[in-house]
Amino acid sequence: MSNSVVVIKVGSSLISQGSRENSAFFKRLAKCIQKFRENDFDVVLVSSGAISYGMKKRGIEKKPKNIKQLQSLSAVGQIGLINDYQINFDKFKIEVAQVLLSHSDFKSETKSNNIKSSINNLLRWGITPIVNENDSVSTEEIEKGDNDQLSAKLANLISSKKLILYTDQKGLYSKDPRENKDAVLIDEVSLKALSNQKIIFGDSGKLGRGGMKTKLSAMKIFLINNQRTGYILSGHEKDLFVSLQNQKKRTRLKLI
Ligand code: GLU
Repeated sequence: MSNSVVVIKVGSSLISQGSRENSAFFKRLAKCIQKFRENDFDVVLVSSGAISYGMKKRGIEKKPKNIKQLQSLSAVGQIGLINDYQINFDKFKIEVAQVLLSHSDFKSETKSNNIKSSINNLLRWGITPIVNENDSVSTEEIEKGDNDQLSAKLANLISSKKLILYTDQKGLYSKDPRENKDAVLIDEVSLKALSNQKIIFGDSGKLGRGGMKTKLSAMKIFLINNQRTGYILSGHEKDLFVSLQNQKKRTRLKLI
């Protein structure tokens, strides 16, 4: 029997820290991937961070607003980003491959089939695909989503039962936690219940474009039946695999 697939998305903020913090994060992520494999899951990673790597490479501190500049910075940074994954994951014997996609690819049946077959082939070879938006040819994620929605569309295409969004926040809160001390983390929630509630969503960080709004839009794309589970949680947790099961440390989402 073939393994189930899990899609894990990593936000820009988690790999846009100092090089020591970055390599600590790569280490925790590699251990998480190993744990999934031990539990018969193949992992497809979606990673942002090309723009922030490009900014670092070119000595730019403030993220530009101009989309063309961001596209070019992404082209500069993608090389370093994937190299860092390769170097850090090699230590854990996790072989990686780079896959660059755009939203429009999912609209074409031929391209969708190509994506599916190349990813499945990589997984059969025991290789972890690392996906990012192809920023030179498309701008959807640069403009709105830090790859949240791209990862949901990919998860749908490859029939993943789990979509995990690691970010720099703990998950969804009952109120805006920056302004309300009594805000509590929502550990379990259904999309149906969410649509009846007004939840204050966090903005994106300085480097990414995610925020809870785009994460929730991603979950709306992904959670089409109750066999699927979505997670939003902090990538700063010590054990990224164990924190998925800890209701104090994540928001778990279902359709109903
Ligand atoms: N593809 C972009 C990157 O890797 C997404 C992040 C963003 O929108 O800032 O940097």
